[in-house]
Amino acid sequence: MTLYRDEAVVLRTQKLGEADRIVTMLSREHGRIRGVAKGVRRTMSKFGARLEPGSHIDVQLHVGKTFDTVTQVEAIMNYGELLTEDYQRWTIASAILETAERFTAQEYEPALQEYLLLVGGLKALTENIHDPSLILDAFLLRSLAIGGYAPSMTICSRCEKPGPHRYFSLVGGGSVCAECRPSACATPAPETLSLMAALLTGDWASADSSENRNRREANGLIAAYLQWHLERGLRSLPLVERV
Ligand SMILES: [Zn+2]
Repeated sequence: MTLYRDEAVVLRTQKLGEADRIVTMLSREHGRIRGVAKGVRRTMSKFGARLEPGSHIDVQLHVGKTFDTVTQVEAIMNYGELLTEDYQRWTIASAILETAERFTAQEYEPALQEYLLLVGGLKALTENIHDPSLILDAFLLRSLAIGGYAPSMTICSRCEKPGPHRYFSLVGGGSVCAECRPSACATPAPETLSLMAALLTGDWASADSSENRNRREANGLIAAYLQWHLERGLRSLPLVERV
């Protein structure tokens, strides 16, 4: 009997048969994994509420032919439960969980950076020190960066001419100079690009002092940029309430 143990965050669950669930998780060492939790939908389940989306857990699985089976779960922190009472933060948590799944294309491929980003993002949301909308945008930008798609906020992403430039390409690498700009371009305020750079590098002092209009513009640019880089759009992103 082959067992393995890891720390993980529950990304999603699906019903399986009468009483079971398939649980999709992003784990520290094994990347994205799926396990069957048997009897989890019965009221007396030994797993309790520990396998809900947003739960940070210590989990043990038994390797199976089609699916691994969850054999033990210990709660580390149930971020999902902490966030359910606040609609905006819950929808942001959902968008973060969905993004983490989409940016880990292969199961069992270690994705430590994305895992740490995920845990950090959920923790920041529950601490509620920063605007939740900024936390989401920082998470999206950094997930893009881990995937190798970080948009340029200064130099031209095509010819590398030093910036900042007036144009931002939504279907390319971000900032572009006047000579290189494609037809689908935005012309964001320079402060919006500075905000995005601050979110990408974790400069929260700058990000927290940004103005609402720049936050809104950054939201739009990041969402459009992300939707273009993912094959299918994120289902949960349009549900996020931006204040
Ligand atoms: Zn250029």
